[in-house]
Amino acid sequence: MAQKISKKEISKKDAQKKIGDFFNNSEDKNPKEIQKIKRFAMKYNLKLGGKRKSFCKKCFKIYKNPTIRIRNNMKSIICENCGYASRWKIKKRN
Ligand SMILES: [Zn+2]
Repeated sequence: MAQKISKKEISKKDAQKKIGDFFNNSEDKNPKEIQKIKRFAMKYNLKLGGKRKSFCKKCFKIYKNPTIRIRNNMKSIICENCGYASRWKIKKRN
């Protein structure tokens, strides 16, 4: 279980908290910031989980008023900014 953490890097727990705080008020975040936090999460090997569904993975814009379509257990969210459709499998149990 020993994990190497260099001095300048924050702990995984702190990193997770930072991501959580970020998405707590994601409405006023710009695409650049979203991209940055995504990279940050990747660096710490953290999953954004449901949070990654709150923004477009193509243009990194927070969804404000996206078109949502549900078909064959798939949920499509169409970005109102770039038109990119993100598709998610609908889980029967969450
Ligand atoms: Zn988009």
